[in-house]
Amino acid sequence: MYRTHTCGELRLENVGTTVTLAGWVQRIRKMGGMTFVDLRDRYGITQLVADANSAQAVADAVASLGREFVIQATGRVAERQSKNAKMDTGDIEILLDQVNVLNPSDIPPFTIEDVSDGGEELRARYRYLDLRRKPLKNALTLRHRMAHEVRNYLDAQGFMEIETPFLIKSTPEGARDFVVPSRMNPGEFYALPQSPQTFKQLLMVAGYDRYFQIVRCFRDEDLRADRQPEFTQIDCEMSFVEQEDVLNLFEGMMRHLFKTVVNADIANPIPRMSWYDAMDRYGSDKPDIRFGMEIHEVTPLVQGHGFSVFDSVEYVGAIAVPGAAAYTRKQTDELAEWVKRPQVGAKGLVYIKMNEDGSVKSSVDKFYTEDQLRAVAAEAGAAKGDLVLLLCGAKRKTQTMLGVLRIEMGNRLGLRDPKVFAPLWVVDFPLLEWDDETQRFYAMHHPFTAPKPEHMEWFNSNRKEDLEKVCANAYDFVLNGTELGGGSIRIHQADIQKRMFEVLGISSEEADYKFGFIINAFKFGAPPHGGLAFGFDRICALFGGQETIRDYIAFPKNNMGRDVMLDAPSAIDDTQMEELFLKSVAPEKK
Ligand code: ASP
Repeated sequence: MYRTHTCGELRLENVGTTVTLAGWVQRIRKMGGMTFVDLRDRYGITQLVADANSAQAVADAVASLGREFVIQATGRVAERQSKNAKMDTGDIEILLDQVNVLNPSDIPPFTIEDVSDGGEELRARYRYLDLRRKPLKNALTLRHRMAHEVRNYLDAQGFMEIETPFLIKSTPEGARDFVVPSRMNPGEFYALPQSPQTFKQLLMVAGYDRYFQIVRCFRDEDLRADRQPEFTQIDCEMSFVEQEDVLNLFEGMMRHLFKTVVNADIANPIPRMSWYDAMDRYGSDKPDIRFGMEIHEVTPLVQGHGFSVFDSVEYVGAIAVPGAAAYTRKQTDELAEWVKRPQVGAKGLVYIKMNEDGSVKSSVDKFYTEDQLRAVAAEAGAAKGDLVLLLCGAKRKTQTMLGVLRIEMGNRLGLRDPKVFAPLWVVDFPLLEWDDETQRFYAMHHPFTAPKPEHMEWFNSNRKEDLEKVCANAYDFVLNGTELGGGSIRIHQADIQKRMFEVLGISSEEADYKFGFIINAFKFGAPPHGGLAFGFDRICALFGGQETIRDYIAFPKNNMGRDVMLDAPSAIDDTQMEELFLKSVAPEKK
């Protein structure tokens, strides 16, 4: 037997007993004739002591130890002279009788402490050492708890966990596929699933009316923001449901997770907002509703007064930033520059200061009377002391820019408290999105999302204006300005699915080639169904109060999609290439 207890277990009541622990040497301190060794395992840290009374063998062994050696230590539990209230085991220590070195260690390339001295790249290369650190251990523990509670909840609701294949054919989530060449089928490729979307729908056709899976998804996207090429979803689908059933059930799941994993109570019921409201009021389909500063349209108030910039646009919108009227010229200039960054893309910024002393000052004083400026500020909901910021241009684009500005001001004013959880369902998404560049419609969610039954007439029309008005019973779960999940009620009729492909400009040959299997399945008694998927890594990070998902994934990739520990991706040898009937035309690596 390697150990009788773990390093996080012993307390005062164990004093006097002889125990054996096993673990890693965290730290060694010599004080006078005494040597203290902190021994660490997954469960905690326990202090070991060798002193003048210890046997020579113990003294020798302890003298040979270095950081991260794996040892087995036997000794008697004793009450500490100076207790450490910060450690669970801080009341006791082990007076060593015997020390066995199970395996020595090279000096680790960085310190295995809560705050390490190692840079990101170095820690990624030695991920297994980084994972020994407590913050990462806590992150993975939270992830485990979360998965466990997801299963508890969904199992109790009658869901079955069913695995779906990874080697499949292209799926339609709108990203690029990762592909895998088939040796047995020369010149042919599998695609890795961007999600199990089509499979879960086929499971509904098969009659498994409540399905879920905690499943890996693969999307070959540029990894700017905090994304990973492979990530995990809580993927779910249900039959004989309407949107209301799906929202209620998963609201329950989120409430269960908040309660059991972080002991937090969230709004009940979770508020809902239509996509149109979200765009008009927050300039985003994932509004952060922890703070106000809503967007207000002021177009009619500012047009027709000789300011040509406003007169020539479709839309002028404003936000009122609380308490920011005191901004100096330098600060407003900086903001005006800030909105011109490519991430925002505004051409310029107009402001109105509602000074504390009741006076009004604006960058467009020349064109407007004080009363006119006050009317604009009132429309934006500004009070004394607020700074009103205005942007203009095409409606949706400008709202989106105001949304970005709103979040930035929220950050600057400290209004986005990570300890506050403000969930929201965004509903009634448009079914389709027009793309000017390619001059065609794209599915806003994915091509299996059903048009609202009351919008079928528009859906069957060939006029762009009609198609643009079609809404879907599609919904996103948003938390603190982050989309955590989304789904929809699906198409379950072969003819509507065919029409959807037609609307998307996919020829019937292409539709048959890519998705014939599902159109076909819909001919054999497909039940009405719908579902959704949550981003599991992201939920874990948010619950853990972190921005980045990387810490919640045991072996993540860097932002070039590389695993720097494995050094993958990498070239494969010529024989393998030949077997797969592949030839590389990649440029030589420098
Ligand atoms: N497959 C969708 C996604 O990955 C989720 C869903 O519609 O259920 O976003």
